Amino acid sequence: MTAEEFVVAAGGHGVRRPTALEAYRRFYRVGKDGAGWLDAAVPPVLRVVREESPEGEVAKFITRVPGDRQGMEELEVESVLIPMVSSAGRRTYTLCVSSQVGCAMGCTFCETAQMGLIRSLTPGEIVAQWWNAAHGIGVRPSNIVFMGMGEPMDNLDAVIQAIAVLKDHNGPHVAISRITVSTVGRVDGIRRLGEKVADPGWHRLGLALSLNAPNDTDRSAIMPVNRKWNLAAVREALLAWPRRSGNKVCIEYVLIPGVNDTARHLDEVAAFMRPFGVLDGNRVSGRPLMAVLNLIPYNPRRNSPWPAPAEAQVAAFLEGLIARGVFAKRRRTKGRSMMGACGQLGNEHIRRRQVVPITISD
Ligand code: SF4
Repeated sequence: MTAEEFVVAAGGHGVRRPTALEAYRRFYRVGKDGAGWLDAAVPPVLRVVREESPEGEVAKFITRVPGDRQGMEELEVESVLIPMVSSAGRRTYTLCVSSQVGCAMGCTFCETAQMGLIRSLTPGEIVAQWWNAAHGIGVRPSNIVFMGMGEPMDNLDAVIQAIAVLKDHNGPHVAISRITVSTVGRVDGIRRLGEKVADPGWHRLGLALSLNAPNDTDRSAIMPVNRKWNLAAVREALLAWPRRSGNKVCIEYVLIPGVNDTARHLDEVAAFMRPFGVLDGNRVSGRPLMAVLNLIPYNPRRNSPWPAPAEAQVAAFLEGLIARGVFAKRRRTKGRSMMGACGQLGNEHIRRRQVVPITISD
């Protein structure tokens, strides 16, 4: 709960506001030892897997949460801390959080999809990933991305409540401009979150879309969600996203050899991106740039039918995008060998191989 919600709840037990607020602050800032009488249950960290990257150590940590029904074994939630070094040489960390155990969206390239959806996480279980990073691993992340296990729009109430806590200045106090929610294109969720962004203190929230294929045929083949909300509907929702701060929407494109890497795909990506603004050399023509495309080399899931792209393929595709006026950047892969990179989170021991169909209507 947020600090204000906690103050009200504690007041119901006769705790005065200053006492409640102090305990809440100390719980987030100092940890459990400093919080005195406030002893909230935090899912324990089961294990940490570390891998070196050129910018520092990537740490994937796994926490344990209760199963989805009585008698069911406990479940594992994966989160990843990713280091980044700024041009000034300062190292910061991005925390990639999970919003569900497993996922119902069934994207064919994704490890998490192989599990099916087991259950959605509560707001507390989402915030606990930040708490464990800060007080279990000892790294206070400055950025949070909802790009771990699960589709955030499939668990939107919990995600919104978790963000309210994460940005609370008495709690984790992560700047809202440093929190990004990533979706495969649930248009109903994009619209709902867009309405939330109109609230005071929310307008700089980041939004990312996993595009991954620029035509409906190819996209529906690798991302079943596209059969419900096609590219035109998704683009319309993104163009309507409130951008009072000038924040750009992030379009993620996972480059998969043999799936979405041809010259035709380059032309189609450029056509999809055109309404968001076009780069002409260093100049922007038409409307201001509203979106940036992040090119991500595919990180093979277990038993993947596709390999990772060669470095030269990624470079050529990026060049092709820029030549077509797309404002595109390349995302470096970190944590691939420990199955901690994008699209690789998931626990092979608890796979159900049951993909829950997308049931929510507009
Ligand atoms: S890519 Fe995201 S939405 Fe798609 S199956 Fe994986 S976790 Fe779910």
